Amino acid sequence: MNQENVETSLKEIRKLLSHLSGEVAVLEESYSRILLVLERVEGAADFDDLTGLLRRRAFFRKWDALLEQCRKLGEGAGVLMVDIDHFKQVNDTHGHATGDEVIKRIASLLKQYESPTCFVSRLGGEEFAVVARASDIELLGMGELIRRGAEPLHGPVIGKDGRPSEKVEWKCTLSVGMASAVKTGFDASKMLKAADEALYSAKKKGRNQVNAA
Ligand code: GH3
Ligand code: MG
Ligand code: MG
Repeated sequence: MNQENVETSLKEIRKLLSHLSGEVAVLEESYSRILLVLERVEGAADFDDLTGLLRRRAFFRKWDALLEQCRKLGEGAGVLMVDIDHFKQVNDTHGHATGDEVIKRIASLLKQYESPTCFVSRLGGEEFAVVARASDIELLGMGELIRRGAEPLHGPVIGKDGRPSEKVEWKCTLSVGMASAVKTGFDASKMLKAADEALYSAKKKGRNQVNAA
């Protein structure tokens, strides 16, 4: 190969390499964008659409981590199971849209208690759970504050046309079941079962009350 041919070939190679590096940059850019979208989709799957609260699976993940931390530190932890009383009647009397509004307002009430050591989930329907690193007394106090916090809540019933009524208002009350690691051990499933039983007793005793396991 003469000198001229070598120069031509080298030029060709440089050109190809510069194309290639451009394509690698485009690929890297696409890769980063796909990762971002994936993270957003995964994050969105952790939260309930109606309330923005944690869904069950993500909630249990956080709960397990909190329990492990509390167990190591020798700190108390517990759960409040919160359920709207006679919610089916709200739907039956005022319609599903009003029911949704009530769920959203209760979710907002519960969100006020969120902190690095306290988080809330919509377990499903009109049922919520609040988990906290706290003593039994603190948990019961929080349950009572939540129950009382729901009592003054009200709002216009939403009509079939989606418009708020000027005359009819909704109101609601909450029943709360509390369970803590002191009784059940640092086990989220056992804790939730105990809180569910405590909630069931609160319902049987007349609703609008906090009951401990
Ligand atoms: P209790 O006081 O014993 O808890 O009675 P309840 O009527 O609240 O409980 P029940 O389990 O009988 O009814 C819950 C109702 O919640 C039934 C279901 O149609 C309704 N529901 C579940 N999810 C939603 C939702 O996302 N929006 C609305 N509007 N209603 C829902
Ligand atoms: Mg209910
Ligand atoms: Mg329920």
